[in-house]
Amino acid sequence: MNTAPTLLPIAPGVHVWAPGSTGSWGLANCGLLTAGGQAVLIDTPYTLNLTDDFLAAAHEAAGPGVDISAVLTTHGNGDHSWGNQRVTGAEIVATHRTLEHQCFEPSPEQLVHLVEGTDPEQPLGWYFRRHFGRFDFGGITVQKPTKTFRDRMDLRVGDMPVELYEVGPAHTVGDLVVRLPEQRVVFAGDVVFAGDHVCHWSGPLESVVGACERILGWEPELIVPGHGPVLDPDGLRAHIGYLRDLAEQARTLHARGLSPVAAARHLIEEDRYPDLHLPERMVITLASEFRHLDRDEAEPDILSLMDDCSRIAWDRAGVAPVPQAG
Ligand SMILES: [Zn+2]
Repeated sequence: MNTAPTLLPIAPGVHVWAPGSTGSWGLANCGLLTAGGQAVLIDTPYTLNLTDDFLAAAHEAAGPGVDISAVLTTHGNGDHSWGNQRVTGAEIVATHRTLEHQCFEPSPEQLVHLVEGTDPEQPLGWYFRRHFGRFDFGGITVQKPTKTFRDRMDLRVGDMPVELYEVGPAHTVGDLVVRLPEQRVVFAGDVVFAGDHVCHWSGPLESVVGACERILGWEPELIVPGHGPVLDPDGLRAHIGYLRDLAEQARTLHARGLSPVAAARHLIEEDRYPDLHLPERMVITLASEFRHLDRDEAEPDILSLMDDCSRIAWDRAGVAPVPQAG
């Protein structure tokens, strides 16, 4: 698969840098807004070398002498923000909750350990090498947002109005979406995934559906998800249908006393969502949903959820057990 991303214009002054990949983790869509000699980014990629590629394309599209004045960070996951240090001097805008919860995110060093320091013949080590082994996490220093807001923030890029709305807790505690009312484009961050199963760490799904419906209510022509291809409103409606169904399944399977792992395995066995990649990620979203159903306010145990996710993928892949001597 060719994953060399390109920066594509989708509306006047609006570009999407799209790794164009489904079925894998970490390759997120980013955006460039440019007008009147100004430029602003929406998210940065996972690693410094990917960010350098994105910035080279962004500077070329913005034109000579145009500085990038801000990065709008849709949420605190590394695959949307670890390139921020490369955008020297730019304001880093995020919700206040993203700043507050940044300490709960795994660090680049932890991720390197999960890729390099785990046993490749066990599910977790196998899964991390498979999905995160392609990334070079060297040299990353996680940046704190320099400007935070609650609820809503408005700005302008040249004469282009840009509206930021806090819609979390949804995918994470502190999600924001970026609305461009004149272009009728919305950058949804990981509140929307296209082509892959969602992995909502926070939830509940009802809040994610609420955020998606709020986006639809703005009557956008294009919705840029955090990962996967750009959607039209019908694509977003179909995504909402899936989220609602998953929430309904969660309620039913929770009431039957299943664990999130057993519930995810059940839905996979049913082949309930045959068109979506990464079905093992359902365990993450179901665990969030079950915590809400149980009124459990604990933070998600990311490592344990990734281990569950890895075991499901390992079993599905039919990874052969290591042959025993004799
Ligand atoms: Zn993401």
